Amino acid sequence: MKSLKHLNKYFWKYRWRLGLGFLFIILTNIFTVYGPQLINEAVNFLQQSVDSAQNAAEGEVVSIAKPESFLWLQQWFGLTFNLGDGDSVELSNLNWGSIATIVALLLGLIYIASYIIKGVFSFMTRQTIIIMSRLVEYDLKNEIFDHYQELDIAFYKRNNTGDLMNRISEDVSKVRMYIGPAVMYTLNLLVLIVMVVFVMAWINWELTLWALAPLPFMSIAIYKVSTIMNKRSENVQRQQSKLSTIVQETISGIRVLKAYTREDFRKETFAHECDDYKMKVLKQVKVDALFMPIIVLLVGLSTILTIYMGGLKVIDGSMQIGQVFQFVFYVNLLTWPFASVGWVTSLVQKAEASQTRINEFLSAVPDVKSDHGVSTEIKGDIAFKNVSFTYPESGIQALKNVSFKVVQGQTLAIIGRTGSGKSTIANLLCRLYDPISGEIQVDERDLKEHHLGALRTKIGYVPQDVFLFSDSIYNNISFGVDGVEQSVVVQAAKDADIHENILGFPQGYQTLLGERGINLSGGQKQRVSIARAIIKNPQILIFDDCLSAVDTETEEKILTSLKGIMSNKTTLIISHRVSSIKHADRIIVLDEGEIKEEGTHEALLQSNGIYADLYQKQLLEDRAA
Ligand code: ATP
Ligand code: MG
Repeated sequence: MKSLKHLNKYFWKYRWRLGLGFLFIILTNIFTVYGPQLINEAVNFLQQSVDSAQNAAEGEVVSIAKPESFLWLQQWFGLTFNLGDGDSVELSNLNWGSIATIVALLLGLIYIASYIIKGVFSFMTRQTIIIMSRLVEYDLKNEIFDHYQELDIAFYKRNNTGDLMNRISEDVSKVRMYIGPAVMYTLNLLVLIVMVVFVMAWINWELTLWALAPLPFMSIAIYKVSTIMNKRSENVQRQQSKLSTIVQETISGIRVLKAYTREDFRKETFAHECDDYKMKVLKQVKVDALFMPIIVLLVGLSTILTIYMGGLKVIDGSMQIGQVFQFVFYVNLLTWPFASVGWVTSLVQKAEASQTRINEFLSAVPDVKSDHGVSTEIKGDIAFKNVSFTYPESGIQALKNVSFKVVQGQTLAIIGRTGSGKSTIANLLCRLYDPISGEIQVDERDLKEHHLGALRTKIGYVPQDVFLFSDSIYNNISFGVDGVEQSVVVQAAKDADIHENILGFPQGYQTLLGERGINLSGGQKQRVSIARAIIKNPQILIFDDCLSAVDTETEEKILTSLKGIMSNKTTLIISHRVSSIKHADRIIVLDEGEIKEEGTHEALLQSNGIYADLYQKQLLEDRAA
């Protein structure tokens, strides 16, 4: 129960609703317990009138006590039903039949009325407690979502998306089952047991013990069965998610699948897993089938015991026959609540497991923290001082003692082979990670002393792997800024040389992009991503290999139109291609995480090192193409 403590704050938040729900539960149960009392009164009245009628002489008037409910109605509302205002009803062997029928009918009507009132209260119970659970579900989802957004990239590398999604949806639903149904049924069970047992014991405590004796066995049996049931249904669920993974991967990888003609193989795998699923479901159904018979058996046992022992008591005169009827009704009333004990227990167990998983994420703290630091205007001077970095997930050292400086308005290019650490520099500058050693400064202040949010709004980052949302192109470009004018969006698109392309689509800027921008070409995606970065009007621009998918001609065009934008900003261009970077103010050649060469295009060509080598090779390639 430890992990569920996290939810107490929500119970406290919604304490009035919960309290009101509890009140409705009490009211509901008052009427639940009252029903069998009416049966008792009706049976007793009938029996007494038959007895008196049979034993009385012709025309003799006898009086029988009025049913208790009649006495209450008479006392509180003055209702006498034409039976006189005394405590008893007078009848003779001539009219007893019609009077008894009327009394029984009236009791029946009261019974119906009390059930309607009970129904209303039970509706109100759900309206308060189940709604409370939905409100908590909403709060909890928001709490988790907010926390997810605070966590850093390292966290997302450690945990996969499916897991993150599950905890915010599946696990929260399971927790809700605890807050709503489990709490409601438990309160209901407690109130009902207390009331019923109290009334039963008041009538006859000995018969109460007999009647209740089998019920604990029922609870234990149901608990045992539901534990097995849970285990089996978990197996079913696990198999089900395996199936959906297969389907999902097949669908998203359909192009590769078809290209490699693996359809049949895939079909076999799927059929095999489906078979497994079927077996698991059948196993589950077998246990499911045990559930009802166990309940029926044990309730039957209780009923038989009640009737037998009650019958003996009626014979020896210590109980009335109507009371035995009342008992039988009570025993049946207790069936469902007792049966639900096992179910509720398993709900709580599941909720606890889920909440443990949720807490695990909620207690994760980001390494990169944003809660303090100054937010000032940022000019855009950047300095790396002996920065080293190792990825915590893989243990790969991506940067070794990297130092460089860029002042506002300058363009720095970073070139190097794949895996040389270029993107890592961009990651560190955006503070997606913090360096292991050394210091990164922006405007001569350590990155960690800047307010994280303020810093990031001043950085326009075009990541290497473009991510577009399934939304319109317009919204994708204006993503990073609120309430931007259309002309600004269009200008950004023009600067990124994507405007013409967009106008070429039938819906123009309102064209909806499929999942991850599936209906754009690689180069188009990159340019939308560039437009998204420059629209923010940031002080620092980072282009991580963002022109790799466009041809050299378009590249040239984009670079020329970006020149104006870049003039008073600090720009980092990361690329494999010499053509993208040769105009940069300074070029860094990175190899295995170290800076190997540094200088302008001309100077680097002169020194005849790695850069010159690369340049020659790419020149040859271009000519060949
Ligand atoms: P490319 O030109 O292919 O984009 P790059 O120069 O940008 O390469 P980086 O992405 O900086 O290279 O990677 C440098 C090293 O760090 C690589 O060896 C890579 O395996 C490792 N690496 C990169 N990202 C991660 C990560 N998220 N987790 C673990 N290791 C990583
Ligand atoms: Mg990279």
